[in-house]
Amino acid sequence: MSVQFESSQKKGPIVGIDLGTTNSLVAIVENGVPRVLRSKEGQSLIPSVVSFADQNHPLVGSEAKRNKVKDAQHTVFSAKRLLGRGFEDLKPILSSLPYALIEDSAAGLVKVQVGEGSYSAVEISALILREVKKRAEEALNCPVAQAVITVPAYFNDAQRQATRTAGRLAGLDVLRIVNEPTAASLAYGLDKKRQGLIAVYDLGGGTFDVSILKLQDGIFEVLATQGDTQLGGDDLDQALASVAAVEISKVFGIDIYSDVQLHASLLEAAESVKIALSTQAEAVLQLKLGDQVYSRAWTQSEFEALVRPILDRTEEPCLRALQDAGLKPSELSDVVLVGGPSRLKIVQDTARKIFGKEPNASVHPDEVVAEGAAIQADILAGNNRDLLLLDVVPLSLGLETYGGLMSTLIHRNTRIPTVAREVYTTFVENQTAVDIHVLQGERERIEENRSLARFKLGGIQPAPAGIPRVEVTFLIDADGILQVAAKDLRTGQEQSVEVRPTHGLTDSEVEKMLINSLENVEADEAYKKLVEARNKGEPVVRAVEKSWEQAQALLPPEECQEVQNKLEALRTALKGEAVAAIYDATSDLNRVTVRLAELLIQDSLKEMR
Ligand code: AMP
Repeated sequence: MSVQFESSQKKGPIVGIDLGTTNSLVAIVENGVPRVLRSKEGQSLIPSVVSFADQNHPLVGSEAKRNKVKDAQHTVFSAKRLLGRGFEDLKPILSSLPYALIEDSAAGLVKVQVGEGSYSAVEISALILREVKKRAEEALNCPVAQAVITVPAYFNDAQRQATRTAGRLAGLDVLRIVNEPTAASLAYGLDKKRQGLIAVYDLGGGTFDVSILKLQDGIFEVLATQGDTQLGGDDLDQALASVAAVEISKVFGIDIYSDVQLHASLLEAAESVKIALSTQAEAVLQLKLGDQVYSRAWTQSEFEALVRPILDRTEEPCLRALQDAGLKPSELSDVVLVGGPSRLKIVQDTARKIFGKEPNASVHPDEVVAEGAAIQADILAGNNRDLLLLDVVPLSLGLETYGGLMSTLIHRNTRIPTVAREVYTTFVENQTAVDIHVLQGERERIEENRSLARFKLGGIQPAPAGIPRVEVTFLIDADGILQVAAKDLRTGQEQSVEVRPTHGLTDSEVEKMLINSLENVEADEAYKKLVEARNKGEPVVRAVEKSWEQAQALLPPEECQEVQNKLEALRTALKGEAVAAIYDATSDLNRVTVRLAELLIQDSLKEMR
């Protein structure tokens, strides 16, 4: 038994998490078979939505999703699109988000403004991951502290670091970050015991990834990866919504984008139409505008014409990935589609057109990524020894050199982990420090690439110019994350290098957030139970209030009085915070209204006759 296995046994199971733009899932391998963990109600998807209706007690998942339209100002979704990104990067999508983004320039971070508070994408993702952790603990009935988390293959270093920090804030030891298409191929390949060259075309809610893999004797070798971290199913909703916005402005004179609530309702209506069109030839987009209604029918072919240009944007990354892998489409043995939108015929058609091959759509495109993450978790636990994953770095890594140009140290699609070294010297007599600027991207000019980190390499012993020799080692670990080490070659002394990622958080900031979040865990749990209890009680109050006139006509006065007493008791309980009292009062009111419900049904049947 390996050491890793022993320690993982002690620390409990390692779960696989798909932290999605729209939904998140968690899975585990049991007896060699991956299984997505479900709620008591059988739900596998945890909406990646956080509601700050009460700032001290955020709600996450299905409960938060209910507030997405009702309380759009305080509800954050698609936070993954913001992870590890700067304000400038996000300008193009600002107008499409119903919530406001602000720049916290001191921390170099973008934050979501919700009421009085503001939250970074890392904090929001941490809240989602905490909910995911809880789902796993409830389903497995034991503590869960270790996880493998997936990210889009095309995520850069800052985005990967942000994901890892979010995991840490959620109380998870993130053992590995795995690329989503690679995870999907693990789940897919394991199933079918496939061999050959496969393309994974992964269109999620907010990101598009394509990876080319070679599968042979249990070895999953990624040959190339490409993508677009700002392209996904959300864009199809936005396209439908913009048509509606123009028509609504013309016909009703209403500017949808200036009303957060309406904007959120429109996006939701657009998503429903898109989803309906994956199984129906026609669907109607309807939106209530006060006492008027905007209504517009969409046929599948009209929808396809609208979104084709968006989906065509997936072609270039696919062709580049094939080129990087040195392959022609005809050499592929399989094309695998992953992600919710792959249920759409137009997405399948686009993939078929690009690769010239009939694509395979998974039965559960939402679940394969989490299942793959669970398989990777199982490998890390020391099981599944006949599988090996060899992934690559998605973007080149380099340094700023003279004249504002980037000199590449590690080329994209290099297998990870990998290492590169550079020796620095000084230009000035007795210079004791050198500034180093690390960049990621494929362009020549530094401003066209992503600035990953800047740091000062200090502690160089004073000497004439050109004499000191400091070797800097850039290590890209198995998560695709950069680590930097430095050594003075003259003295042999190691130097510590503190790299603060651009748009990232320092370790001490993370620690502070960690303490805050741990302090809030209990309070949040208690509040969530209270919300659940209120969600049970409030509909019962509303139902009785609605039929109160009929109740007075149908029930004898003493029974009527009893219903009124219990109704009042539940109203009072709902104003308080005692969870048990709310449940008791709800079941009391339910009990005394059983006969009323029967009479109401009989009454309505009479009317129908
Ligand atoms: P994922 O990140 O894989 O969960 O994908 C989320 C995206 O899939 C969202 O944009 C959803 O609206 C979209 N989606 C989910 N189900 C369907 C469907 N049946 N047809 C089209 N899009 C879907």
